[in-house]
Amino acid sequence: MDPDRVLEGLDPEQLEAARALRGPVCILAGAGTGKTRAITHRIAHAVAGGIATEQQILAVTFTTRAAGEMRGRLRSLGAPRVQARTFHSAAVRQLSYFWPQAIGGPMPSLIESKIQEVARAANSCGLQLDRTGLRDLAGEIEWSKATQVRPADYEKSIAKAGRAAPMPVHDVARVYEAYEEQCRDRNLLDFESMLELTAAMIAEHPQIADRIRDQYRYFVVDEFQDVNPLQKLLLDAWLGDRDDVCVVGDPNQTIYSFAGATPGYLTGFSAAYPHATVVRLVRDYRSSPQVVRVANGALKHARGPAAEHRLELVAQRPDGPDPIYTEYDDEPAEATSVARKIGALIDAGTPAREIAVLFRTNAQSAAYEQALSDAGAAYTVRGATRFFERPEIKQAVHTLRGARQGAGSDPLVQTVRDILAPLGLTPEPPEGRQARERWESLAALAQLAEDIAAARPGATMDHFTDELDARVATEHAPEYEGVTLASLHSAKGLEWDAVFLVGLTEGLLPIVFAESADQVEEERRLFYVGVTRARAHLSLSWALARSPGGRKSRKPSRFLDGLRPASPSLAGRDNRRQARLVQCRICGNTLTEAAERKLARCLDCPADYDEALLERLKAWRRDLADEQKVPAYVIFTDATLQAIAEYVPADKGRLSRISGVGAVKLERYGEAVLALCAGEEPAADHRGGEPHGGRTEPQTD
Ligand code: ATP
Ligand code: MG
Repeated sequence: MDPDRVLEGLDPEQLEAARALRGPVCILAGAGTGKTRAITHRIAHAVAGGIATEQQILAVTFTTRAAGEMRGRLRSLGAPRVQARTFHSAAVRQLSYFWPQAIGGPMPSLIESKIQEVARAANSCGLQLDRTGLRDLAGEIEWSKATQVRPADYEKSIAKAGRAAPMPVHDVARVYEAYEEQCRDRNLLDFESMLELTAAMIAEHPQIADRIRDQYRYFVVDEFQDVNPLQKLLLDAWLGDRDDVCVVGDPNQTIYSFAGATPGYLTGFSAAYPHATVVRLVRDYRSSPQVVRVANGALKHARGPAAEHRLELVAQRPDGPDPIYTEYDDEPAEATSVARKIGALIDAGTPAREIAVLFRTNAQSAAYEQALSDAGAAYTVRGATRFFERPEIKQAVHTLRGARQGAGSDPLVQTVRDILAPLGLTPEPPEGRQARERWESLAALAQLAEDIAAARPGATMDHFTDELDARVATEHAPEYEGVTLASLHSAKGLEWDAVFLVGLTEGLLPIVFAESADQVEEERRLFYVGVTRARAHLSLSWALARSPGGRKSRKPSRFLDGLRPASPSLAGRDNRRQARLVQCRICGNTLTEAAERKLARCLDCPADYDEALLERLKAWRRDLADEQKVPAYVIFTDATLQAIAEYVPADKGRLSRISGVGAVKLERYGEAVLALCAGEEPAADHRGGEPHGGRTEPQTD
């Protein structure tokens, strides 16, 4: 492509960045100002101008999904072979390639979740911990490794970082040490060790360093504000003493400092590279002036180092609708109303995939899944991670390729649908999480066929499979035509026409355990990330009570102060609340929010519930509900079942601590639930229920 043509559609500042082809470059700018766009064009420009070949460029982004999107943009700019990867995936490739030469012997297995290994290490230290304790430890080990803190330095380092240890410091350090030793002995590598080992391999093996540095000469890192010390170490190893590195980020979108990331590398870039080209962008091309006003307002009271880099965004897009602020009595009312508004937007022509519901914690998703299902709207909760590695997609791609030859003259979309139907692409999504996920993946392929047919009338199976091959090669997952349900953390870098920010109450945003000023500031940035995902429609909502008829004790988020219109109904509310003391089983903090008390953990402490158990619990509940002719939620709500599947209580005492399991339910269903948790079928006389036909009380908390 002509080098100048790839620069079309950039503004003067973006052009300055895209034209600064050599040496260090830093783009420091707010949300939606075209940072990602500027760097993809800069890469294409470098390729077109012969500064670097596609193979010599490594673009690093934050998530697999963002990497896929970047590859898509690069492909359309004529640079399909540029590597766009996460730190993690780039490191895995290099390490496995050079393993025989650098280290030799069998390559260690990568572990995705530490829990099992942490349990083993804790045992070897004579510590008997429940799942909660194990998760605590895994989180501490992860933070320590990401910030390069060794076991012996753990105590000193958490004091310095103002971090509270979840258990005696000495125990954390001991288990951490045992864990490391055990991973070595058992030939296992976790994410952090993988990055560290790759960096060490480059540092210690000059020939390998030469090979890697010869291959990659040109580096670009997006979302640089959320890089952790380990990732920085690897980037420095790649660079050696060269400086062809372009970093891009927004200090005010730093949302992973809890996990060890720091915006210091971004804000300190020009001190580290005094000759760097530094570009600031302020024109917001993503959002309407109405949304931009909220975004600027969201940061108005921001404090701390990131806020010093704040620049007022200047809207470039035409006017849009005013943002809508809505207060609801309870969460189900909020979810139902949001689903209804989404239905109206879709009816009015906004494609479902251009709509997102964003929340602070994954536990909030269920209510919206339910409400959207009830409203008949398609949705997707899955990220686009490893799309082409899903078994159903591998099979589908194989079948589609095979069908290329024999394809008749039917329209493309029909042909693809016919081929996918036997694999599970029914007209309507099926019940059940797994079946639904499978269906969603296949529907995404059908959607791709529709998109291709729309863009190129008369497109054939050849066109389709070519596109598919290109996407498989570049891991560019197609989008599914459904409303996106996502956490604020996973929404970064993305954009939609309509965004619904839900659950905006104190305790959820900011999250209840954000106690220090720094933690509250990180929550504020998360709010800013959420607001700035919207192009035109922005809805901000919150609910005063968790359940219908419950106490309306919640307060709208402080981040709404000064943004939402003053509401007289909010004046003088009594916010006193004496909650029974419940502690997070993961971090030990006192829980005051109903949703958290139900789960017995902070909403954003990690949750990895046992999906198979949840399915069994739901099946049991369904049977029982049928038998008793009552709605299923009367037995237990989804949230309670999820909490049970997460907590896996071993006895009635522990089961009773789960919110939603009162004395009556404990008596009635306790045995059955505990049997299911123990992996057994409930005994016939313990199936639960009310043999005497008595009243079943609805669950209200
Ligand atoms: P974030 O901070 O959220 O990652 P960003 O700064 O990376 O945002 P982009 O995603 O690159 O922003 O751009 C936001 C939107 O504005 C995109 O839809 C992009 O195509 C569009 N855009 C960016 N620059 C321009 C421009 N010069 N002209 C027209 N549209 C633009
Ligand atoms: Mg971006």
